[in-house]
Amino acid sequence: MADPLVTGRGTLAVPAFLPDATRAGVRGTSSEDLRAVGIEGVVVNAFHLLRRPGARVVQAAGGIHRFMDWDRPIVSDSGGFQIWSLIRQDPNRGVIRDNEVIFREPATGEKWNLTPERIVNLQLRLGSDVVVCLDDCTDAESPEAEQERSVERTVRWARRCRAELDKQVAQRGGAPPRIFAVVQGGGIEALRRQCATALAEIGFDGYGFGGWPLAADGTLLAEPMRWVVESLPPEAPKHALGVGRPDHVVSAFALGYSVFDCALPTRDARHGRLYAFRDGWSSRRPTPGDDFYRAVRIHDAPYRVAHGPIEAGCDCPACTRHSAAYLHHLFKVGDTSAERLATLHNLRFYVRLFELLRT
Ligand SMILES: [Zn+2]
Repeated sequence: MADPLVTGRGTLAVPAFLPDATRAGVRGTSSEDLRAVGIEGVVVNAFHLLRRPGARVVQAAGGIHRFMDWDRPIVSDSGGFQIWSLIRQDPNRGVIRDNEVIFREPATGEKWNLTPERIVNLQLRLGSDVVVCLDDCTDAESPEAEQERSVERTVRWARRCRAELDKQVAQRGGAPPRIFAVVQGGGIEALRRQCATALAEIGFDGYGFGGWPLAADGTLLAEPMRWVVESLPPEAPKHALGVGRPDHVVSAFALGYSVFDCALPTRDARHGRLYAFRDGWSSRRPTPGDDFYRAVRIHDAPYRVAHGPIEAGCDCPACTRHSAAYLHHLFKVGDTSAERLATLHNLRFYVRLFELLRT
């Protein structure tokens, strides 16, 4: 198993689940809420924070930890994935070149030239504990020529990110943040292995599995994930970027991934889709293929009169104080506390799942 992830703000036990606090907050919750359900770290998105409120605002607030009142580890995703998805959807939003990414905000006319060096400096200005290199993202369906170019760029950009971090740390002194690189290569074995090996030769504190992590039919890219693990140092933490469905987490963990972030549990919660362990599974460590959890669709009619908790035995703020019927009611009347309680329940489910995986 991978080593725990040691950061300047504490050590993350692995496997670690880090909810997405994309714009410096997990929607609908406070930092106190997150601590109460056992969250140990979060992932913010450097690119989104650059757009709003801007690095200067965060820096003037005393850094990202002070700004969002969070004293535990923060991973800052570079935003490579978002840049790719936005520009890919709409070429008016910018262009990806070998040496830089130019991103345009059509609504305001603003333009950013994003280079590997700028992305690292941005994350240093935020004061993040784990810096993620800029990568050139693709999905498994992209043509081979595009995948090849993506791997070339990703390795070149990672080398520049590493060099910039080392230069800045040498100039500024103090404890350096950790730095993760992201492996691309889509669904092509030779490219995945080549990218992972090249990044490992440069040397990073951890490695992310990059690109869209699911096949067109929604299944996990288990084979590409395995090639990447096999090509990386065994002890290095491996981050399954964006992998979050509970059964996908269990499969990716079995493959050797130990750091997870995903918007799924919090987004599902806001839509009234909750997770619960099936009977007998709340104290058993699940393995791939186990049918260990069920979905609770709290909007459904039967919950109108479900006077027990969402899940018997769950110790989250929703289940210890309220019935499923009450949460159903709050959703029906559009009370914003419904989203908060549902989010805390789902986050607690993930914390409990990860505790089981650590046993
Ligand atoms: Zn609960």
